[in-house]
Amino acid sequence: MNRFVLLIALSFVFSQLKSQNTIQEVVPGEWVKQWLLLGPVPLKEHEDISKSGMHYPGFETDYLIKTGGETNLKVKAGDAVRLKTVTLRWKQVSADNSEIDLVKEVSKMAPALAYAYTEVDCQQEGIWLASFGTNDGGRLWVNGQQVWDYQSERGLKPDADQVPVFLKKGKNTLLLKVEQRGNNWGFCFRFMAFPAKEALDRGGFLYITADKNGENHLASKFTDNVLNSLVQSIHLKVSDFQDKEMLSETRNGNFRGKINLPAENYRPYSADISLQLKTGETLPYKTSFYAGKRNEYTLFSQGKSDYKIELSSNASESEKWAAKELQTTLKEMSGVELPVTSSAGNNPKIVIGYNKILFQLTGIADPANNDESFVYLNAGPDIYIFGGRLRGTMYGVFSFLENELGCRWYTPKVTVIPKREELKFDYFGHTEKPGIRVRNDFYFEAFDPIWAARNKMNGTLDFADMPRQQPGGVEGYWAVHTFYPLMPPEEFFEKHPEYYSLIDGKRIHERAQLCLSNPDVLRIITERISEQMRKSPEFLIYDVSQNDWYNPCQCEKCQDIAQKYGGESGILIWFVNQVAEAVEKEFPDKFIGTLAYQYTRHAPENISPRKNVVVRLCSIECCVAHDFECEANHSFLTDLQQWSAIAPHLYIWDYVVNFGHYLLPLPNFATLQSKIKAFQQNNAIGIMEQAAYQSRGGEFSELRMYLISKILWNPDCNTEAVVNDFLSGYYGRSGKYIRQYFDLLQSLVTPDNHFPYGISPQDKIYTSAFTEKALELFQQAEKVADNEEILHRIELSELAILYLKCKQAPVLSRIDGSYEKFCRIAEREHVTHYAESGEPHRKAFHLEVENAQE
Ligand SMILES: [Zn+2]
Ligand SMILES: [Zn+2]
Repeated sequence: MNRFVLLIALSFVFSQLKSQNTIQEVVPGEWVKQWLLLGPVPLKEHEDISKSGMHYPGFETDYLIKTGGETNLKVKAGDAVRLKTVTLRWKQVSADNSEIDLVKEVSKMAPALAYAYTEVDCQQEGIWLASFGTNDGGRLWVNGQQVWDYQSERGLKPDADQVPVFLKKGKNTLLLKVEQRGNNWGFCFRFMAFPAKEALDRGGFLYITADKNGENHLASKFTDNVLNSLVQSIHLKVSDFQDKEMLSETRNGNFRGKINLPAENYRPYSADISLQLKTGETLPYKTSFYAGKRNEYTLFSQGKSDYKIELSSNASESEKWAAKELQTTLKEMSGVELPVTSSAGNNPKIVIGYNKILFQLTGIADPANNDESFVYLNAGPDIYIFGGRLRGTMYGVFSFLENELGCRWYTPKVTVIPKREELKFDYFGHTEKPGIRVRNDFYFEAFDPIWAARNKMNGTLDFADMPRQQPGGVEGYWAVHTFYPLMPPEEFFEKHPEYYSLIDGKRIHERAQLCLSNPDVLRIITERISEQMRKSPEFLIYDVSQNDWYNPCQCEKCQDIAQKYGGESGILIWFVNQVAEAVEKEFPDKFIGTLAYQYTRHAPENISPRKNVVVRLCSIECCVAHDFECEANHSFLTDLQQWSAIAPHLYIWDYVVNFGHYLLPLPNFATLQSKIKAFQQNNAIGIMEQAAYQSRGGEFSELRMYLISKILWNPDCNTEAVVNDFLSGYYGRSGKYIRQYFDLLQSLVTPDNHFPYGISPQDKIYTSAFTEKALELFQQAEKVADNEEILHRIELSELAILYLKCKQAPVLSRIDGSYEKFCRIAEREHVTHYAESGEPHRKAFHLEVENAQE
């Protein structure tokens, strides 16, 4: 054999080797597409639903032990793994796009798990962000080290998890173990550049833990590998709540570990942590924590308690109400009624409302009346719950019941108060503040004042002259589309047609607006809105805005002003600013609101809304399948950003429902949080989530109104946990099937399938396969319903899918009983509105199904 032949032979061998073990290069943002898969390994379901937050039985077993185990795996395509009853083989797959679909590649079996293994080649040694999503939960090892674990069901969301990992130069191994609990199954994985500062802001670098004995540790969610390769040294300074320095030390290497803090009593501390990175950068970071020895106290035991509820005699109305709520809730939970008193004497106590003693204990000053933030904590056996008098303390009481005692107020009718034999505690310490100032959850049942107060909803939109009466009061928004209510054409048009829009050379009032350049119009509107403000001073914002149609005035004067200020929104702001200026002196704490809507949606130029003007921006034209990153939403996002650049306050009128079909399944859950966060980041002082507001029965109304209330209060809340909590709390044992339906519904969204709020039942996303699968899941849910009441809740939720079925296949729906079931549920649950238009739509729907022919 000559050298040439040898070379060919060798290159053949190499190419064979290479094709067997293609190593992908780590490129930031690019999906890792080549994987070896092994599965399905069968798992068992939890028999006890309370364990649903853990991996399924069998997940913890290391099935790869004969080939090195999960931490030291050595495999190639074709290798066999023998299980008890079957032999599986590692299979090479390559993704077409971001996702590896395990149902397609591995099996439809559920519950089960699959392994995915791959090797990646890294050119640049250092820290990378492993960025991935899995459906359902799972576990990840990088170079044999476990770096991530997620234990519940969930849908696939790219980049749902981001974990800093250390990659060596050259070959690195990844092993994912993905759990399948039903329906879709898959994952996607990529690496991103590691942003040190952001990681610090998320609190992953370092934090301080305190254990029961008063010992404290500097801890981190990151692996030692990551910390050691990133951090040169750490300087730690700890102060007590009065800013007295308690400790100052520097650590070089072994960053984690015990902190020797001279802390005897359990109390709050703050720490300044300064990280010197190996890159030379210094990152400062401030955190607070509690330290000190804990004792155990008994709030109640076996129907007895030594505690009293202490309520100052000058407590506010909402504080009094909250004390009463605490009393009755604790009684229902424990059987014992704690007396409410203005002085608890030597008894241990729960103190409701700010109390001077708190300054000595915590250094926290008396909060402002309308401050909605709150704190609850204990000092020895005594528990303090306090915030601003208007609503802060009240919110604190409900959060205490919710977080510490497991109470829930899912809907006005469905409250969960767990029964408990005893409650012992060693420590309470918690604080919260609102993410959005005015929170308006616009579902029919969310208008219930008690439900709203308990779930921290404080916004209303009232067309009557009085805002809703609710414990703690509300921040009302008076009216909308008020041009005509303030200046009715019946009153003025005959004598003064010039007050109304000039359209194609003619003054008209039907479906028209006001002539804003007319000084008399400004005078009358100013007078009338002032009258309104005097008459109903309870509102925060008073509306001066266009009617709900187009036709702004085309007169020369109006058009000159519009042109000067960048369009129709320009003349509107010019007009509203003058009204706001005129009322400011008499009403210094109130706002004049107006609309950026339809023809006034784009931000004006050369003019800014005054400081007492609130611009209400509407998202009605948005794509609901995706968040604002979607191309179809760029124009709205641009408007939002341009408005927020000039307007001190925005109020967002957002939509979470299909007005043409309240009952139609709407897969927009994945976008709710990111949209609210975007509003928050763009000066929103208020958000209204307009929904099915006229009757019960809107699609997933109960879940949506609950979830939205949580996000509006805390835009950073863990929505996945809220959804799971609701599904198991509200639907009981059946919750897991409703979760499967929820995931099935979300899976109708794909990256390039956009749809508006008013999506039609005939849209291509609603296949009959979807409807049939959904009905099957509801049947399973109904079969295991804990009781009749829960069965009714499930059926009410099923209404959405029955509605879709009747729309898709009216004749079949009549034959197979779907229509009959729909009618029975709708009637029993008093569902009066299938759409915003109400009765005409309802009638038409029934006629359509009843008269449909093959
Ligand atoms: Zn005009
Ligand atoms: Zn879209």
